[in-house]
Amino acid sequence: MQETAIVSFAQLGLNAELQSSAAQAGFTVPTPVQMQAIGPVLHGRDVLAQAQTGSGKTAAYVLPVLQLLMTTASSRDEAPKKRTTQVLVLVPTRELATQVSDVLRDLARPLAQSIKVGTVFGGVSINPQMMSLRSGADVVVATPGRLLDLVDHNALNLGHVQHLVLDEADRLLDLGFAEELQRVLALLPAKRQNLLFSATFEPVVQTLAEALLHDPARITIAHTQEHTPDIAQRAIQVDEKSRTALLRHLIKTHVWKRVLVFVATRYACEHVANKLYKAGVFATAFHGEMSQGARQDVLAEFKEERWEVVVTTDLAARGIDIAQLPVVVNYDLPRSATDYTHRIGRTGRAGAHGEAVSFVTAATLAHWQLIQKRVQVQLPLEVLEGFEPTEVPPPASPLNDGTGGIKGKRPSKKDKLRAAAAHAEPLAPKD
Ligand code: AMP
Repeated sequence: MQETAIVSFAQLGLNAELQSSAAQAGFTVPTPVQMQAIGPVLHGRDVLAQAQTGSGKTAAYVLPVLQLLMTTASSRDEAPKKRTTQVLVLVPTRELATQVSDVLRDLARPLAQSIKVGTVFGGVSINPQMMSLRSGADVVVATPGRLLDLVDHNALNLGHVQHLVLDEADRLLDLGFAEELQRVLALLPAKRQNLLFSATFEPVVQTLAEALLHDPARITIAHTQEHTPDIAQRAIQVDEKSRTALLRHLIKTHVWKRVLVFVATRYACEHVANKLYKAGVFATAFHGEMSQGARQDVLAEFKEERWEVVVTTDLAARGIDIAQLPVVVNYDLPRSATDYTHRIGRTGRAGAHGEAVSFVTAATLAHWQLIQKRVQVQLPLEVLEGFEPTEVPPPASPLNDGTGGIKGKRPSKKDKLRAAAAHAEPLAPKD
């Protein structure tokens, strides 16, 4: 694959005002996805980009879309029409909605022209969101369910949308938004620009892309050494009951100041956070049953290093961007390889070094091997002194098919054999 020469924001066609906004945000050199996306977006093309969270993908569409908005807004020279928007950014979670809106507002703030950004997501009262849209917005960042509620309340008309962004399209589909997405698409004008960003190009994403995009600029960021986030991955074998003690040991010996710990359930979030807290570690839970306000507080306090550890589930953690989050721990293994990639992608962002540690128990060993196979890594399984595992794996059964519940793919014969081998006693040599 040909390497892209480093170019500046100016060479990509970004105007002086936005170059200055980007510089104020600390963006002096475009990231690879920005290098490839900004030009085509400015030229009005549809874009299909494979880009992970952490690659700078938000600014890759925010910067050129702001420029397009500046051009149309200056030609019409008036405020947005009531209850309409020109740009719709669809995202899978509330956290990502807040995050994208923050990037939009930060980059738009220094501009001479005022750009109004509306943010809508569920789980909070709809009334302030209805009020904020009354005079219209230049950009609306939304989760699909609440967006449709607002449309149903006549609080927003999508008939003026000129640019549609689907951010984390794979998560939108994963989280079961396919139907809502179709409803939203049906409300948009046929003539518009479509930008689709996704960490993976799974078949469902491809199908969506084919139905949505017209002759898109296709962007895939090569996984070269330079572009791959710098994440040191480790796997430690440990007994299930010793995981909290191991976590405390690691926090202490490595002097970890900010750790994001993933567990399987909301109950486990509270349970593990409480155990750590009682043991003197500043740990708290972060999950979907907490109010939006409480979640925002935890995130803000975590960023300020007032919590050492935040214990969370996959759903709550999607899209969280904490600059320089140094460590991610898989206390419980993720269900799928895609979730593994998303989890570890919370660290090693924007060029910083990150560490991702997975706890592997006897019961999850076969599942771990499958995850490794799908993400194409093979890590040595470490055993730490004082935490030597003693538990034995559960016997294979028809219910335990060796996938450990991994979703998205039925185990092949080879997978099953490998899982069985992982459970079995060492084989006697054949004679
Ligand atoms: P994203 O992939 O959009 O979630 O961005 C990940 C992180 O990269 C964010 O913290 C951004 O502030 C940062 N970022 C985005 N673009 C640049 C850039 N050109 N230079 C440095 N940092 C950037």
